[in-house]
Amino acid sequence: MKRYDERETLFSRVNLKQGTKEYNEFYQKHPELKSSDDAQRRVSFRHALRKDDRFKERFFPITKHNKNYIKHVFDMAESYPIQSKRVPLPGSFADNIKEITKYYGATDVGIAALTDASYYSHLGGVSEHIGKDTYGEPVVPHYRTAIVYTVAMDLPMINRAPQYEELLATEEAYLRVATIGSRLTMYLKELGYQAMFNNSEYYLAPLVPLAQDAGLGQIGMCNHIVTKTHGNNIRLGAVFTTLRVDIDQPEDFGLTEFCKRCALCLQNCPSKAITHKTRIVNGRQFYKFHDNRCYDIWIKSGTDCGTCISSCPFTQGVDQDKLSRIKEAPELIDEMMNEHYQRYGRRVFDKVEMDIIKVDDDNGQDN
Ligand code: SF4
Ligand code: SF4
Repeated sequence: MKRYDERETLFSRVNLKQGTKEYNEFYQKHPELKSSDDAQRRVSFRHALRKDDRFKERFFPITKHNKNYIKHVFDMAESYPIQSKRVPLPGSFADNIKEITKYYGATDVGIAALTDASYYSHLGGVSEHIGKDTYGEPVVPHYRTAIVYTVAMDLPMINRAPQYEELLATEEAYLRVATIGSRLTMYLKELGYQAMFNNSEYYLAPLVPLAQDAGLGQIGMCNHIVTKTHGNNIRLGAVFTTLRVDIDQPEDFGLTEFCKRCALCLQNCPSKAITHKTRIVNGRQFYKFHDNRCYDIWIKSGTDCGTCISSCPFTQGVDQDKLSRIKEAPELIDEMMNEHYQRYGRRVFDKVEMDIIKVDDDNGQDN
């Protein structure tokens, strides 16, 4: 089975510096990506936020320290000593691990086995904020258990996508993912097991397949994990460990059929990045996706858009009883869609800005 290669992901590609050895090697292999990637190379999308300077000088500091924070908790967890006396634990300790991960702040937790094919073959160097130069580093599969978790994002913020509130919601969720991951890593090390956590700055494996294996949700037309209760309004985290506990199984709750009758993410995507065409990667169904088109919207809006998140009926909440019966009675999907249309229309969009940054009621002078 071919392993995923992080160097092929958009953020790794557009971070390459023109003219370097890595750049030349990559585009010799993938000439079809060169011109669209060149147009987006090393662009910081946040600065395109359509707000005046007075807003921006108050807004960006809200999250400016996030990467620094993530680096600190990453360093702390990575350097945390592993206790030499290992606490023996049964497979059923999986249930406790899930509760502890929720105690640290996760919304939902599942456990998956890691095979060699779960891991990236090579890292893509997206970890510059945590001070590691990893581009092209081969990944040696070491851990065999993945504790995968979700963090639900703030729904009123996401429902303002693609406005600035959406950016705050995603950045906050990444921070919480890192907090949970670092604490769980240190907990496992206290128990005498090796562990490391994946976070927005450093991944050893793509987390979407692992989240599906861990039973957290299914891959929807948007190519995200869609969970039954929070849709794709989540961010994923995972701690890899040498601890062996009972693993979960993937759950098919009928999302593929649901997506066929819904397609709201596709219809609402402003860049036409989402398609209904399926593609199989390592035996797993994804959908064809135009990543450069998606990133183009980020660069234009100054946020990471998120319209496909607010558009998903599962994000807004679906009738769980009906959902449990859609595989036997697919006509229930039409009922659920009608209910969604009646409540929300084709797209949820609350354009009334939140009061987080107020710039209208002062003159910008110091008190
Ligand atoms: S983030 Fe926006 S542009 Fe990208 S796929 Fe989702 S809806 Fe489309
Ligand atoms: S918006 Fe509809 S088509 Fe897209 S992932 Fe959600 S359920 Fe599937």
